[in-house]
Amino acid sequence: MSDSKTAPKGGDKTQKRSWAEKIFGWKKKAPTTTTRSEGIDTGLFLLAANFGDLMREKTYTELPKTAQANLRRPVEQALDGKDEGTIKSAIATFKVEVANSHTAYVDIAKRIEADQIKSTALNDRGSPGAAKVARLLATAKQSTEDGKFTDAAKQLDDVEAAIMNDVDAHLGLAQGRINSLSDWGSTEAGGLDNRLKAIASKSTLATFETTWREYDTLMHDVAAAATVPVQEQKTRSLAELRKGIVAALAGVPTTPPTLKAPLQQRFDVWDKALTAANTETDANKKSTALDTLDTAATTLYADILKAKGGDTKAEREAVFKKALEARYGFVVEDNGHPFTNLDKMYEVLKMVPHEDVAQSKLKKLVYGTPGKSGAAFGGAKIIMGDYGDATGDWNYQNPDGTPAPVNGFGISALHELGHSIDDRNGIMKSNQGKSGCGGWKKETVDSIADVFLETFTSGPGKNSPVPETTVRALIKTTLSGGVPPRPDTIAVTDWGPVQAVLTSANGIRDAGKWPWNNPTVIGGRAYHESYAGRGEWWSYDNGARNGTTVRNYQWRSPAEWFAELYAFTHFKKQKPPGSIDSGVAVYMWK
Ligand SMILES: [Zn+2]
Repeated sequence: MSDSKTAPKGGDKTQKRSWAEKIFGWKKKAPTTTTRSEGIDTGLFLLAANFGDLMREKTYTELPKTAQANLRRPVEQALDGKDEGTIKSAIATFKVEVANSHTAYVDIAKRIEADQIKSTALNDRGSPGAAKVARLLATAKQSTEDGKFTDAAKQLDDVEAAIMNDVDAHLGLAQGRINSLSDWGSTEAGGLDNRLKAIASKSTLATFETTWREYDTLMHDVAAAATVPVQEQKTRSLAELRKGIVAALAGVPTTPPTLKAPLQQRFDVWDKALTAANTETDANKKSTALDTLDTAATTLYADILKAKGGDTKAEREAVFKKALEARYGFVVEDNGHPFTNLDKMYEVLKMVPHEDVAQSKLKKLVYGTPGKSGAAFGGAKIIMGDYGDATGDWNYQNPDGTPAPVNGFGISALHELGHSIDDRNGIMKSNQGKSGCGGWKKETVDSIADVFLETFTSGPGKNSPVPETTVRALIKTTLSGGVPPRPDTIAVTDWGPVQAVLTSANGIRDAGKWPWNNPTVIGGRAYHESYAGRGEWWSYDNGARNGTTVRNYQWRSPAEWFAELYAFTHFKKQKPPGSIDSGVAVYMWK
């Protein structure tokens, strides 16, 4: 830099300019005495002039600047070499490449323009996949700028796949909502289902806008069809809460008068509002009113029970049992459990969309053995264990890894509910293999034996005299029941490497080892047995744990992966991480 300051004005610049650049400056003039005196002959000059002409053609000028520079560079270098043959060949190549690039570029530019519109549309509607589409599109744009049109074409395939994935995700959600309608016996479910299938069958990238328009209309109609049944369900639960409130209020002592009177007054106001809500004709106003009344009812009821005094737990639980059953249509079997926390369950289930709870894969809420912790889901039944008074926190984490303790009872209830809604709508069944869903792959003892055998034969067992078939059989034995003792057919000196691979394989068995806490990673994938005795083995993309994990347990199986994320995002009112695929993200908190 200091040199250019001391150099005569413009001198430095002139020196840096290449011979080729000077030629372009001269345009199509005939060679002058000056050029001849610089040793440039007419033949070279004409070639450069021809090159200059080519650079003024639209096929070249329409290309992005970086692409132009990349195409131009070899000819400039050839011109600087001043070898006529080399220049000729460089110009010929230039001509062909410009033509090819232009064809590719026009196609890509059109696609980018079209995809940009779709990307903006996804962003405007807050689609879960919008950020991913925008990111992929930016990469494709950059490749285009750089003249890497083949790369850009491939990247645009990804962009377009991501766009369609987002569309499909919403169509999947529509299916889920219609499934719930169908479970409520809605007469409109069948017609809506047919409409959805018609939209899905016509859905292509080219019909993107039509699909969204039809989807929006469909979802509007789905919501409209849900309005009356949901209002009926909520009205029924309010009636149960009302009964509980009236009964409890009767038990509140009349002295001192300051105890009961304000509660009575609150109830009168609430009850009047309930009557008004029940006769409200505006559907939206009615829905809002019912939700407001519900919140007010639970607070009022708690205050009344407090004023009443004494042990009101059984009374409260009985009221919430009926309210839950009326609201969601499932049966509560408390089995005399001392810690049902049904009032808390009522609050927790309100954290997710109503349709997620009121559906045919949730028929029973059962309380298990007192003293036994944990929860489970199976056969349309949620089984809640012993959570005491439901105040304890469990160790969860935000997807960025920072601690995020969550109420254990609440998160467990939502976790099991996650299994239920997944079961109803086959969410993970259609998404589990996607990279944004953990990249799960179903494995078997045989497929995993092959993977471990490969680590042996390509690693410590490379020169082992033990036959592969023997090692493979031993791996299978291990996966089924632990590391076997050394067979007599294997020499003590050869046992070490074999034993090492068997020990490694043993580490991925369920059998109380919780391998999802300490994954065994081979070639970027983690392998393990998800449920001992069920023959359920999975592998997943271990890299996907990064930035998406709310609890290690999430990595036990695709079902747990969904249940944990579903529970966490709704409980924390947090959007799922951006890398989570739209197909499942549409079911999470938004
Ligand atoms: Zn689970």
